[in-house]
Amino acid sequence: MATSALDGLTTAVKGRVVERGDSGYDDARALFNAMIDKHPAAIAYCVDDADVAAAIQFARRRGLRLAVRCGGHNGAGLASVDDGLVIDLSSMNAVTVDPGARMVRVQGGARFGEVDRATHEHGFAVPAGIISTTGVGGLTLGGGVGHLSRGAGLTIDNLVAATVVLADGSIVQTDLERDPDLFWAIRGGGGNFGVVTSFSFRGHPVTKTMQAGPVLYDIGDAAELLRWYRDFLPAQPEALTGFFAFLSIPPGPPFPEELHLRKVCGVVWCYNGEDDSPALREARSWGTPLLDGIAPVPLPDWNSAFDAVYPAGDQWYWRGEFVSEIPDDAIEQHVAFGEAMPTWKCTMHLYPIDGAPSRVGSDETAWAYRDAVWAQVIAGVDPDPANAGAIRDWAVSYSDAVRPHTLGTGYVNFQMQETGDKVRAMYGPNYDRLAQIKGHYDPDNAFSVNQNIVPA
Ligand SMILES: Cc1cc2nc3c(=O)[nH]c(=O)nc-3n(C[C@H](O)[C@H](O)[C@H](O)COP(=O)(O)OP(=O)(O)OC[C@H]3O[C@@H](n4cnc5c(N)ncnc54)[C@H](O)[C@@H]3O)c2cc1C
Repeated sequence: MATSALDGLTTAVKGRVVERGDSGYDDARALFNAMIDKHPAAIAYCVDDADVAAAIQFARRRGLRLAVRCGGHNGAGLASVDDGLVIDLSSMNAVTVDPGARMVRVQGGARFGEVDRATHEHGFAVPAGIISTTGVGGLTLGGGVGHLSRGAGLTIDNLVAATVVLADGSIVQTDLERDPDLFWAIRGGGGNFGVVTSFSFRGHPVTKTMQAGPVLYDIGDAAELLRWYRDFLPAQPEALTGFFAFLSIPPGPPFPEELHLRKVCGVVWCYNGEDDSPALREARSWGTPLLDGIAPVPLPDWNSAFDAVYPAGDQWYWRGEFVSEIPDDAIEQHVAFGEAMPTWKCTMHLYPIDGAPSRVGSDETAWAYRDAVWAQVIAGVDPDPANAGAIRDWAVSYSDAVRPHTLGTGYVNFQMQETGDKVRAMYGPNYDRLAQIKGHYDPDNAFSVNQNIVPA
C-alpha cells in the first residue's frame, strides 16, 4: 500500500497516529489473540466522537478498510485489518455513574473492569463477562454473557441508549424511540452498524460480596456431574448461577500444589447474596470435590479472578454453540474431549442463559436464540505458538462432535471469523432484518471487519 494513502491522517484526527514503520508499531497492532497477526497501515487513537467521524471519513475517502478496536479481545482478531485503518477507542474510556438512577454511561473504548469498579461502590453492576480486561464495545455489541446473566439478563438487555458514529460520519443518539431499528440491531449485531462511542446501561443491585468460586472434581466424575448439573441448575433461583467447566488447575497459588495442572471438571458458582443460600448449599454438597473454592468476594474481584490465567498474548482458537438440552449422548462426547484437552489452558464452559435472558423475545433484539439454556464455548488456548495446531484441532473436533446436540450455531462473540451461511445462522430468523438495517445505515459495508452482515 502506498504511504501516500495516509497523507493528512495526522492532521485529520486529533489523537495519536501510529503508522507502519513507526517505533511502537508492533505493540500498537498487537491483539489479545496472538494467533492473529495483522499489519494495519495505521492505528488512530481517537479521542472523541468528532475524531471517530474524521477517521471514518478519511479511511473511506482513501479507500482504506476500517477496523474498530475497543479491548482488542475478540478471538477472531476482528479489531484489526491488514493494510487498513484501525480506529482505536482506548482513550475514550470514561465511566460516569448516576447512582440515584442506578445507571452508568460508558465510553466506547472502556473495559469492563473499569465499569465494575465504578458501579460497585454504589451497590450495583452491569451484567457482563467473566474477564475484566474485555472491552465494553465488542462484548456488548455481541450480546454479553457472564456471572449475572441468569438473574439480570444479557448485557444488551440492560442497554438503554447509545451514541453511534455512522458510516457517513454523522453522529446519532439511539434508543427505543430514536432510530429504533439501529438500536435493535446494535443489541447483538456486533460492530456492523457504526462505531458506538457511548453506552448507557441500567444497573442491577449486587451485594457487597457475593458467594463465588469453583467447586472442582476428579475428571472421572464428569459424566455424573454434568448429568446432575443440567437438571439441577435450571430449577434453582436466578440469584444462583454456575457454569460447568472442563479445565486444568492453574499451576500457582491459591491452588494446592498437589493439584497443579490436574485436569478436572467442575462448576464455577456465583450466588448474588451475602449469605449462604439453600440452593448454594445443595450445590456444594454434590459429590466429593477435590477443591471447594467458594468464598465471599466483591464482584469486581470475582470478575477479574480469571484475568491472570488468560493474559493477552496467548494463542486462541475457539468455537461456540447454543445448547438447549444436554442428552446423555452429548455427555459421552463432552467427557471424551474434556479428558483429551491438549494443553492446560484449554477449557470448555457452559454459561447458563436461562432465566432473565429467556424472558426477552427472540425478535426484541438482534440476539435470536432466547430459547437456548446455555452458551457453550470450547476454547483451545496456549502460550506456545508451536501448540497452535493442537489446540485448534482439539477445539474443532470437539465442537464438531457435540454440534448435533446443539442448536447448530452459537454466540457471535465465541467464534473465529465466519462468513456467509455461518453468519446468517448466528442471527437465525433475525438475519434478514439485520441485512435491511445494514443496507440503510451502512450500504457500502464500510464496517466489514466483524461477523459481517451483508447489506441488503
Ligand atoms: C479471555 C476472554 C474472555 C471472554 N469472556 C467473555 C464472557 O465472559 N462473556 C462474553 O460475552 N464474552 C466473552 N468474551 C468474548 C468477548 O465478548 C469478545 O471477544 C468481544 O469481541 C471482545 O470485545 P472487545 O471490545 O475487547 O473486542 P475488540 O476485539 O476490540 O472488538 C471486537 C469487535 O467488536 C467491534 N467493536 C468493538 N468496540 C466497538 C465499538 N465501540 N463500536 C463498534 N464496534 C466495536 C470491533 O470492530 C470488532 O468487530 C471473552 C473473550 C476473551 C478473549
